[in-house]
Amino acid sequence: MRTPISYALANIPRYTSYPTAPHFGPLDQADYRDWLRGVAPGEPLSVYLHIPFCKSLCWYCGCHTAVTRSTGRIERYGAALRAETLLLAEALRNQAGIGHLHLGGGTPTALGAQELTAVLHLLRQELGFRPGAELAAELDPRSLDEPTVAALAAAGLTRASLGVQDISPAVQHRIGRVQSEDCVAQAVERLRAHGIGSINLDVMYGLPSQGVAEVQATARFAATLGADRVAVFGYAHVPWMKPHQNAIDSASLPGALERLMQAEAAEAVLGAAGYVAIGLDHFAKPEDEMAVAFREGRLRRNFQGYTTDTAPALLGLGASSIGSLPAGYAQNEADERKYVAAVEAGMLPVKRGRALTDDDRLRRHLIERVMCDFALDLGTLPTALLDEVMPALGRLDADGIVALERDFLRVTPAGQRHVRHVAAAFDAYLGTGSGRHSAAV
Ligand code: SF4
Repeated sequence: MRTPISYALANIPRYTSYPTAPHFGPLDQADYRDWLRGVAPGEPLSVYLHIPFCKSLCWYCGCHTAVTRSTGRIERYGAALRAETLLLAEALRNQAGIGHLHLGGGTPTALGAQELTAVLHLLRQELGFRPGAELAAELDPRSLDEPTVAALAAAGLTRASLGVQDISPAVQHRIGRVQSEDCVAQAVERLRAHGIGSINLDVMYGLPSQGVAEVQATARFAATLGADRVAVFGYAHVPWMKPHQNAIDSASLPGALERLMQAEAAEAVLGAAGYVAIGLDHFAKPEDEMAVAFREGRLRRNFQGYTTDTAPALLGLGASSIGSLPAGYAQNEADERKYVAAVEAGMLPVKRGRALTDDDRLRRHLIERVMCDFALDLGTLPTALLDEVMPALGRLDADGIVALERDFLRVTPAGQRHVRHVAAAFDAYLGTGSGRHSAAV
């Protein structure tokens, strides 16, 4: 059964947090400091570190980044990251160490191997890394030369996520990012040769002039390289938020039905290659930690999407980073220059956030579980909440998105791609803020 196309067209958040970022408000340093002090001393920490620089801008990019080659600007930013590390270490009582570190961007290697190593060294010194900690980075295959990979390995990197998008040169020309298959294969080989053995590849659908055949070929390529995990993301065309996306000819973008077929085609190729489908958009080898966590109901969702990270506190470092603390969400100043100025003045560079209420926590838990497990036990819901969500869940049941049986909700195989709609049924803020989101598929 094919679900109504209206589900693919609707604009729904990706629910990498709840409440979602458009519902954050002003947050001051004093409150943030209290929240940091409230992190339990014995719990492992997670860290997300944002480097907002790239050598050139890919037209499809939805990240918070800027093009620069100014070494002075980059060095100043690196120094600010180190200063922020010291400020956080001072504010925290935590000595349990970091279990997961994620370097995102932008292009983390734009910081330069020396500065990146210095930042990681300081994190190790001030917060510590737990035994077996995962150190992951988003990497651009076009900038992974031998010395850079050697430096990443020496700094302790364990996992690399490489952007592949689409291997077709025609599509690559239409998204302003040209990289050959050889370039990606060589990057993977180099990383493995240096002991960075966990490889994630990111593939996209919904790109200009992309068809099912291109998506299939790209998914096959990712499988052939033996990636441990493959993420298949739909291109989000949001030129009102990312004006550089106007360089993409919107007339050449596939429609909703074509996007659905592309997503299904990628899933079929990866399934045939032995990958396990996980949540909305991830695939993993059956023995991969993420596939195991999925099977065991331990999968989590955070700002990077699906994760095996279970730490109750995620610290965000760098401009625009969002942290998730037991007390609430905290987002740093997004403007890189203002971020640097705040840290140089000795201040925690926090700007926005959201304290969590008990109701937020309950809804967040339900949204995370349905996004991760495709199933939900409704038997434990308070009566008032159950009364509130049942009309929406009943409609989803009628449309074949979910199957309701007594107190249990299961997202149907056909409805899994539309799981954001199920999550939305529990969202008390949807439609109340200024947020505008991308298409749900
Ligand atoms: S390299 Fe990545 S972060 Fe930089 S512009 Fe391209 S897609 Fe965006």
